[in-house]
Amino acid sequence: MTSNVLDYTKANEYLAEFGRDGLSAEELLDSRAHAGITYNDFLILPGFINFPASQVTLESRLTKKITLKVPFVSSPMDTVTEADMAINMALLGGIGILHHNCSAEEQAAMVRQVKKFENGFITDPIVLSADHTVDDVRAVKERLGFCGIPITENGAMNSKLLGIVTARDIQFLEDGSLKLAEVMTTELVTAKKGVTLEEANQILRNSKKGKLPIIDDEGHLVALLARSDLLKNQNFPLASKSGASKQLLCGAAVGTRDEDRVRVAKLVEAGVDVVVLDSSQGNSVFQIEMIHYCKKTFPELEVIAGNVVTWEQAANLIAAGADGLRIGMGSGSICITQEVMAVGRPQATAVYQVARFAERFGVPVIADGGISNVGHITKALAMGASAVMMGSLLAGTSEAPGEYFYHEGKRLKRYRGMGSLDAMERNKGDSGSQKRYYSEDSAVKVAQGVTGAVVDKGSIRKFVPYLITGLQHGLQDIGRSSLSEMQRCVRTGQVRFERRTPAAQAEGGVHGLYSYEKRLFS
Ligand code: IMP
Repeated sequence: MTSNVLDYTKANEYLAEFGRDGLSAEELLDSRAHAGITYNDFLILPGFINFPASQVTLESRLTKKITLKVPFVSSPMDTVTEADMAINMALLGGIGILHHNCSAEEQAAMVRQVKKFENGFITDPIVLSADHTVDDVRAVKERLGFCGIPITENGAMNSKLLGIVTARDIQFLEDGSLKLAEVMTTELVTAKKGVTLEEANQILRNSKKGKLPIIDDEGHLVALLARSDLLKNQNFPLASKSGASKQLLCGAAVGTRDEDRVRVAKLVEAGVDVVVLDSSQGNSVFQIEMIHYCKKTFPELEVIAGNVVTWEQAANLIAAGADGLRIGMGSGSICITQEVMAVGRPQATAVYQVARFAERFGVPVIADGGISNVGHITKALAMGASAVMMGSLLAGTSEAPGEYFYHEGKRLKRYRGMGSLDAMERNKGDSGSQKRYYSEDSAVKVAQGVTGAVVDKGSIRKFVPYLITGLQHGLQDIGRSSLSEMQRCVRTGQVRFERRTPAAQAEGGVHGLYSYEKRLFS
């Protein structure tokens, strides 16, 4: 037997003769030849590394007009995305989609909270009026543990600033009924609206005061800066912001009924950048009409339609003018749609097929549901998704709505499907979740989701950077230094794949140990 000596130049010739190892995406996902597959059914084969993971760029399009530095979206679910989640997702480079299982006014108020947010500035501080008393200040201090309360004409924000009451002003006062008009400090150091965080920090440092009120040209209080927050201020270089206003990007889910047109108008007035038409089966006359309505009435508003899992569904919504599509039916962790409705599609196949179709028309797609680890994110993006939408992965973070509770020694948060009976029964009249599942007119409510709990994940300020870094390492192993390069090389067949048998899947997880602890990042 003769053996060949392999040098670098010969290597390529031999490889050309051998053919390519593994499968192209097309071969992997040919659902006419094989069953549909999902993320755990395959792996991506490694490539060549000649760059550090930190150099991998993740910029990607959410819609035709919106680009994100980080392709992460939080689900419009009432146990996942309210204002706090949306603010923090946008700060970290992604975007949050506010749920609509509430009144239009409540949802618009959440949009305003996101839009008003300025890193480091408190835009909704406790404010009192000159008619409040020393006892009122003591009550605030007892309840919230801080002092240094701005006093305005009507005791609310956006009213004329009159003074500030600090702990020192009330320390030795015995008469708790004294009006604040008599005790507040009126010699104030203030800064003008529009001041940068850096400038404001400098003023605060020089003034040696605890709080710096920010006022507009009429002297109305618009924000507050606290000395105690100075050290906590972080920089967010990846933050998702809208062009001119520099406000954080914000999305919101809506239904497709007549009253949802009023809702959209309220959201647009509040400054929303993108609406997501929220339906488990998006290929309907209702969505098509809603897309037409939104595009005609609010030409600047980006509209994501869905959910879809086939070419035919996608074609209708793209033709109607959708700026993005949401893909997934039955793949969510809390979802029983496939079990109850007998419809849906395995998620990797759905993402690949719809992304491939939509790409021809320049419409980005979001892989929605079924993401339960970083590897799934990398795979969804390799299948052609421009972004991933996550529910369960984010529901245990401190920015998700709801309180933590303990069960058998574990710290948990509640997480429920929007098609669970629980969610459909909330806010009956305004229930976005009934509309999502076409259930508002039915005498019998058929659940498409369950109610459960997820474990505490800490703050997304740590968790999302972990997901970002994990994804960068994944792309480095694949040998591609940007998301767009990886997706191009998947299309040309240079990025290769392999199917996994159930035994290979078991091998790919932790196995054969008596016990172990799974810590994901530090
Ligand atoms: P997860 O990230 O796997 O937890 O899936 C979240 C996604 O599941 C959401 O973005 C929705 O598309 C979908 N979803 C939310 N609630 C339900 C439900 O009750 N039934 C089915 N799918 C749901």
